[in-house]
Amino acid sequence: MKLGTFKGGIHPNEGKDMSKDLPVKTVLPKGELVYPMSQHIGAPSKPVVAVGDHVLMGQTIASAGGFISADICCSVSGTVKAIEPRMTVQGSRCLCIVIENDHQYEPVPGFGEERDYTMLTKEQIRQYIKDAGVVGMGGAGFPTHVKLTPKEENKIDYILVNGAECEPYLTSDYRMMLEEPEKIIGGLKVILSLFDKAKGIICIEDNKPDAIEVISNLIAKEHRIKLQVLKTKYPQGAERQLIYAATGRKIYSAMLPADAGCIVDNVDTVIAVYMAVCKSTPLIRRIVTVTGDAVQTPQNFNVKTGTKYSELVEEAGGFTCQPEKIISGGPMMGIALFDLEVPVTKTSSALLCMSHDQVAEYEPSACIRCGRCIDACPSNVIPQKMMLCADRGDYEGFEKLDGMECCECGSCTFVCPAKRRLTQAFKQARRTVLDNRKKK
Ligand code: SF4
Ligand code: SF4
Repeated sequence: MKLGTFKGGIHPNEGKDMSKDLPVKTVLPKGELVYPMSQHIGAPSKPVVAVGDHVLMGQTIASAGGFISADICCSVSGTVKAIEPRMTVQGSRCLCIVIENDHQYEPVPGFGEERDYTMLTKEQIRQYIKDAGVVGMGGAGFPTHVKLTPKEENKIDYILVNGAECEPYLTSDYRMMLEEPEKIIGGLKVILSLFDKAKGIICIEDNKPDAIEVISNLIAKEHRIKLQVLKTKYPQGAERQLIYAATGRKIYSAMLPADAGCIVDNVDTVIAVYMAVCKSTPLIRRIVTVTGDAVQTPQNFNVKTGTKYSELVEEAGGFTCQPEKIISGGPMMGIALFDLEVPVTKTSSALLCMSHDQVAEYEPSACIRCGRCIDACPSNVIPQKMMLCADRGDYEGFEKLDGMECCECGSCTFVCPAKRRLTQAFKQARRTVLDNRKKK
């Protein structure tokens, strides 16, 4: 089989050996649960419970606040303790519902009941996905029921399941492919039932041979599903790079994958679709990789959403030393954390605890025009020139250089010998351009 790939990219230290071989461990929350109203792209959800209410596991506690938004369901049973701003992973306060766990895990009626998706209409399937609060769990958090309702349903040719997991250190999708592959195939079949002419492609990097074997055995008799093995390279799992590597189709910043006839969902999202439609179970859990050299026993945890990160560190045996850097997510695209008393949300993928902060060790110096950033860039832009514009605040020039095509992957920063904070500057410039566009 020809390996799928793309131009550019980098090969950082994978760091996956730390956590990849231990089975996922289910942990139950000890303290209160915190559910931010903004844990997806789009309008914040609106609370539909009040302080003092008794709630059940799986109950909707907040409903979608707009067309692009998502419901939030409670992951435990207990009492609504507060509805107030709390700190989140983003480093800012956001309205949250706080639940006092009664540790009974009493479910809502119908929770976990079997459903045969082949007996459901497309509208019913989309409604069940919406009611379950499913959003993209690969990081972006785009509401899945919206993604699965494109303007022109018949123009969707491919449903891509993103099993690349190209971010270093992360192994939660890998574990799911080994431990719950039937649910991945099941979820993909549910999605395929919404798009009559589409084919499913499960995309896995070639550094996961055992996952490739498990999935290829399971799909041997599935005529609408195939496997695409991808070259191991960062950022292979980024939407544009994945679509190109698996289908040869190109998309740009102004396009949606659906414009190129594709829909991309990551492994855990597809499992969430399966659970929502076939098992009447809303999205109330998350598989989180807790790893890094500052953690005693790196491993993956099956966690109830709303659980605080500090509890996960405790479950992993605590710290081996005072970590210099803690990241929510992977080292390339994750967010630095300064407080572990923040909750796991639908989009939390990992907690990376490092004894040394390698970025802080180096001061950036002047560009030596080596061109390494250009070779590494998967978006075919010229980071070195974009940096000149970003530094000057020349946003028009930044746009003319196709700066908006940057996917903020961090590859240029990673290879830059002058340790210039390129990606950080591009994130800021892109945000300013988008804000200016909105004002116009
Ligand atoms: S990699 Fe760094 S030093 Fe080399 S051209 Fe790019 S910005 Fe300049
Ligand atoms: S962060 Fe942007 S400019 Fe840098 S390599 Fe990635 S896509 Fe290219």
